[in-house]
Amino acid sequence: MPQETADVAQPLTVFAEDEVIFRDSVREFAEARVRPLVREMDEQAKLQPDLIRELFDLGVMGIEVPETYGGAGGRFFHAVLAVEELSRVDPSVGVFVDVQNTLVINAFLKWGSDEVKRRYLPALASGTVGAYALSEAGSGSDAFALATRAREDGGEFVLTGRKLWITNANEADLFIVFATVNPEAGYRGITAFLIERGFAGFSVGKKEDKLGIRASSTCELILEDCRVPRANVLGEVGKGYKVAIETLNEGRIGIGAQMIGLARGALEHAVEYTKERKQFGRAIADFQGVQFQLARAAVDVEAAALAVYNAARLRDAGRPFLTEAAICKILSSEVAERVSSLAVNLFGGNGFVKEYPVEKLFRDAKIGQIYEGTSNLQLQTIAKQLLS
Ligand SMILES: Cc1cc2nc3c(=O)[nH]c(=O)nc-3n(C[C@H](O)[C@H](O)[C@H](O)COP(=O)(O)OP(=O)(O)OC[C@H]3O[C@@H](n4cnc5c(N)ncnc54)[C@H](O)[C@@H]3O)c2cc1C
Repeated sequence: MPQETADVAQPLTVFAEDEVIFRDSVREFAEARVRPLVREMDEQAKLQPDLIRELFDLGVMGIEVPETYGGAGGRFFHAVLAVEELSRVDPSVGVFVDVQNTLVINAFLKWGSDEVKRRYLPALASGTVGAYALSEAGSGSDAFALATRAREDGGEFVLTGRKLWITNANEADLFIVFATVNPEAGYRGITAFLIERGFAGFSVGKKEDKLGIRASSTCELILEDCRVPRANVLGEVGKGYKVAIETLNEGRIGIGAQMIGLARGALEHAVEYTKERKQFGRAIADFQGVQFQLARAAVDVEAAALAVYNAARLRDAGRPFLTEAAICKILSSEVAERVSSLAVNLFGGNGFVKEYPVEKLFRDAKIGQIYEGTSNLQLQTIAKQLLS
């Protein structure tokens, strides 16, 4: 057999040198700057404003934005690494960065005209937080049943309706809002609009009081005759469904990254604690019953991480990744729930109180099976491919 290595595929867990440097810098930041704030931000249900500034300075709020627009010029895989490392410490910070990169900036890069990119990408990379508004009270899984209406009036569109569950809405100054220009046309009426916080007729409504990822804001958006210039249509009129489908297909790999980061964090806490905690005269990690539970969790985390990295690598390679993305999201979110639940068990009574970090990770894990397509919707995607 030839010994050439050039054609030999790299193992999924071996990263390029720039990826290792980037991951280490985000990990260092997460430990030094995020870790001390986790409990306070969870209790106050708010991200610290200084931390948001620091995330921009670190370069993780514009990862795929080309350097010519002031971004980091990275790949999707870098975004996955950033979300994973931040979520290992705080999944609320993880999703904040995830939405900015894998949904908002991703949509701009793919669908924005040169003019739109010039106008908004430098701001997104340097200080403007973005949000992505598809869901409504009556349209969640059935996202294209949305009711927010856009009527053309002169050179503008006038939007009326309400959006629900919008991540980053409290911090954002720029919103990608999906509305229909023609309800009779079904999904073919859906159009993506770029709305700045200051536009007349636009406001951010009630903030949700949540079980987990409490520091991440989730709010209603209210559009009352909100006038949007035609130049602020992202992509084409009536093609918003494509913007939504394609960004969400990629976005759910980011949620996979959030979930494996969370699971890793929970497992690390469990390993550390069980080595310290003594019962029956020895560390509880000395009991084989505990060791096997930890080993099972490590199996789970490895499987989920491979699935997430594979989906992200496929995406960066320009290959089909739809099924792999659905698999990585469902697997990683189930693993996050299992591993964080185990961590609570292994902390005993201390697992149930806020003084220790694992009850928060257990609460945070639940959202992975709900947003960016519930687990049933992921199964639907996988089944469709399987049976085609
Ligand atoms: C914290 C949080 C943040 C969010 N952030 C955003 C955001 O930034 N932007 C945004 O647009 N949206 C966001 N969402 C909305 C999220 O994507 C939706 O909540 C999700 O898609 C599910 O929609 P739903 O809540 O209406 O549930 P439903 O669609 O009502 O689903 C309820 C249950 O029915 C099941 N179900 C529905 N249809 C089927 C079917 N055909 N077959 C089998 N089972 C089915 C679902 O799997 C689920 O178990 C967020 C939600 C939360 C909670």
